[in-house]
Amino acid sequence: MDKRVTLQQGDITKLQVDAIVNAANSSLMGGGGVDGAIHRAGGKEILNECIKIVNRQGGCKTGEAVITTGGNLPAKYVIHTVGPVWGGGNRKEEQLLANCYINSLKIAVNNNAQTIAFPNISTGVYRFPKDKAAAIAVKTVHEYLQNNATISEVIFICFDDENYNLYKALLGL
Ligand code: ADP
Repeated sequence: MDKRVTLQQGDITKLQVDAIVNAANSSLMGGGGVDGAIHRAGGKEILNECIKIVNRQGGCKTGEAVITTGGNLPAKYVIHTVGPVWGGGNRKEEQLLANCYINSLKIAVNNNAQTIAFPNISTGVYRFPKDKAAAIAVKTVHEYLQNNATISEVIFICFDDENYNLYKALLGL
């Protein structure tokens, strides 16, 4: 296991890192869950930048990622990625979820963000099975870090006990 990968439980909006990742939806216009929490805590500057992105490229596709300011958050940037809605597993959900992690890490690197925190993408309203999602997240991040020396820390921040315990086991903590 890469020592740069760490685990926390709590609220992602409190983290003082270079970038936090948002489990957004393709409209980029905010929503419930972690998305709502990030926009509430970060203020209107985040939404204003999302609107500019929408005007430029028309939202964000599933598996892709865009970056905005962190606004009033302690984090410098918010990376908005759109996780797949779980539809039973035959709609490329697993690859699309992996793409969320890869594309978020790529955009972090391109913006010199060295510390980055991920929520448990797709495991809320999008109903991705938590055990499968955790396994994909851990594997994908580890593989990415094997070929990357610029990222110094990746935090998995879990909100609920079930996710926290799954990550704890997968990370051998
Ligand atoms: P999705 O639509 O991708 O499923 P949700 O926001 O519904 O997104 O859920 C994604 C995960 O984010 C869930 O595991 C949920 O428990 C978690 N979550 C909700 N609020 C926060 C928060 N403030 N900080 C970190 N994680 C959160």
